[in-house]
Amino acid sequence: MNLDQLIQRVEAARLRRSEHLIVQIVAVTKYTKETEPLRRLYAEGQRAFGENRVQDMEDKVNALSDLPIEWHFIGNLQKNKINKLLKLNPFMIQSINSYELAEAINKRTDKPVRCLLEINSAKEPTKHGLQPELAIETYLKIKENLPNINLQGVMTIGAHVDDETEIRKSFRLTYDIFEKLKPYGAKICSMGMSGDFEIAIEEGSNMIRVGSALLNSYL
Ligand SMILES: *Cc1c(COP(=O)(O)O)cnc(C)c1O
Repeated sequence: MNLDQLIQRVEAARLRRSEHLIVQIVAVTKYTKETEPLRRLYAEGQRAFGENRVQDMEDKVNALSDLPIEWHFIGNLQKNKINKLLKLNPFMIQSINSYELAEAINKRTDKPVRCLLEINSAKEPTKHGLQPELAIETYLKIKENLPNINLQGVMTIGAHVDDETEIRKSFRLTYDIFEKLKPYGAKICSMGMSGDFEIAIEEGSNMIRVGSALLNSYL
């Protein structure tokens, strides 16, 4: 699926939810080390790119520094990689999965960084992310105590199962948390990947992170 085809599917899905819903697309580029496919995506209008490893992001940020790309960090962030990531000046870190991680980032920067709180909505022990029960109190605690963490909303990875009801349930749980956080400034609900972005949008997602299904057309 190329970018235009993805946009058409996003458009149809968002209208099933609400004509007022605007959905941003983050193109996840972790499947290639080549930069040519990313340049072609950029030429077609794509501006937000996502990476889940600091080293790979660094390579691409450097190779594409001539383009005004928004880089989103979406992977599990180890504390010893925080400085390296901050040097890349990412547009957003989507994967804040504990208060301790937020605290460590807060300490290492003096300029606020846009962040999302990652929620383990499928409650799968193999996944990173905060337990949903802790999400709201953690969000508020970060907001109150960590001035350099500019929390903008939540992120989740949907349940990794075939049962659509289960997937929908994990997105709905995240959207409910997002709704409760809106009075505290939450604006972004990042959910939906190649296999489930339409379900995610139907459940209220306003940012999807699409990798394989999009990249395949450019490799
Ligand atoms: C890889 C990845 C994606 C994109 O996954 P696809 O299924 O290839 O679209 C989205 N979000 C996160 C956090 C990822 O690690």
